[in-house]
Amino acid sequence: MTSFKTLDDLGDVAGKVALVRVDLNLPMQDGSATDVTRVEAAKPTILELTEKGAKVLLLAHFGRPKGQRSSTMSTSFVQGDVEKVLGKEIMFIPEVMGPVVEQSIGILDNGDIGLLDNVRFWPGEEANDPDFAKGIAENGDFYVNDAFSAAHRAHASTEGLAHLLPAYAGRAMEAELKALDAALGNPEPPVAAVVGGAKVSTKLAVLENLVGRVQHLIIGGGMANTFLAARGVDVGKSLCEHDLTDTANRIMDQADHAGCTVHLPYDVVVAKEFAANPPSLRTCNVHEVGSEEMILDIGPQAVEALADVLKTCRTLVWNGPLGAFETSPFDEATVTLAKTAAALTQDGSLVSVAGGGDTVAALNQADVAGDFTYVSTAGGAFLEWMEGKPLPGVEALKG
Ligand code: ADP
Ligand code: MG
Repeated sequence: MTSFKTLDDLGDVAGKVALVRVDLNLPMQDGSATDVTRVEAAKPTILELTEKGAKVLLLAHFGRPKGQRSSTMSTSFVQGDVEKVLGKEIMFIPEVMGPVVEQSIGILDNGDIGLLDNVRFWPGEEANDPDFAKGIAENGDFYVNDAFSAAHRAHASTEGLAHLLPAYAGRAMEAELKALDAALGNPEPPVAAVVGGAKVSTKLAVLENLVGRVQHLIIGGGMANTFLAARGVDVGKSLCEHDLTDTANRIMDQADHAGCTVHLPYDVVVAKEFAANPPSLRTCNVHEVGSEEMILDIGPQAVEALADVLKTCRTLVWNGPLGAFETSPFDEATVTLAKTAAALTQDGSLVSVAGGGDTVAALNQADVAGDFTYVSTAGGAFLEWMEGKPLPGVEALKG
């Protein structure tokens, strides 16, 4: 893996000012966060820096204020939640640069934490304006990026600052990059990828990148229907992008040339209406789907075959559920295969990395997220990484 500096490379930072990019874009309800996972993720980095005596300035975005101040999108709204997670009082600073920040730093003791306001209040953030970044950098001695989830954006706080100050990956960023490298950067073969979810169109670039990198491409979810249709299967009323069958055929050809086996289900779970446990529910061969039926999950025989594939693999990367997992019993394939992957991981025979909003929800539903090697909550950044795109926030750390 191309090297980047971590907190292990910090010298004596007592009294130094750390500008720390974190993800505080918390889901809110009635003025407080409904989920503080993102703060929990940044906590080790923040506390390590305070323990080393640095003055820590947290830098984050919150919502989409589009380059102007907004009374409803100040980071002061998450101050209480951040304090609760860190178990420490923090000082809110209603600016990101200039004399107010400078004076606040004067008030902070070594090991204290300040929370800067929403960096997206200024248009220079998303424009990655060098002068804006310089203004922020003037009050800092070094920069730490612990927000992998924002690393696919080339913004001043995620990319620009890394060129202006000594730059380090925080602990969460470091863990994420190590896990991703073990899954697709330098994985131990054979590698399997599970790609599911609703549509091929949202994951074309992912599929195209994966066929050249993995030995087994397992396709499930609604997108499997498009691939089945491309192979001449009548998928009835299933969610299917009929206009993408040529694309699906091209991807299967690319896989053939690259020595990647594409796995499509040969049995499926179908129903005439999309509801929980509908009366029309049945399992059938893919060639027996009725014209009034929808494929809503892959079938038990397919899952068993896929479990056998995973048993021969050393590495697994997973994005997208295999069925419409929010509705019972169409979560069955996803839950069963996830449990197999979790067990193989716990046995030490598989490195398993998963990511994606619905994927994380599905793994939690299967109660196995903790048994995977790594589960990324990074959303957009995770998908762009799966597409094989360099992430500006990560590239900048490599210096
Ligand atoms: P992620 O958020 O993990 O990247 P996606 O957003 O791509 O995943 O896909 C998740 C969605 O795909 C879920 O809402 C799920 O219900 C839907 N889905 C999966 N299989 C099917 C199917 N056979 N028919 C319709 N929708 C499906
Ligand atoms: Mg989703």
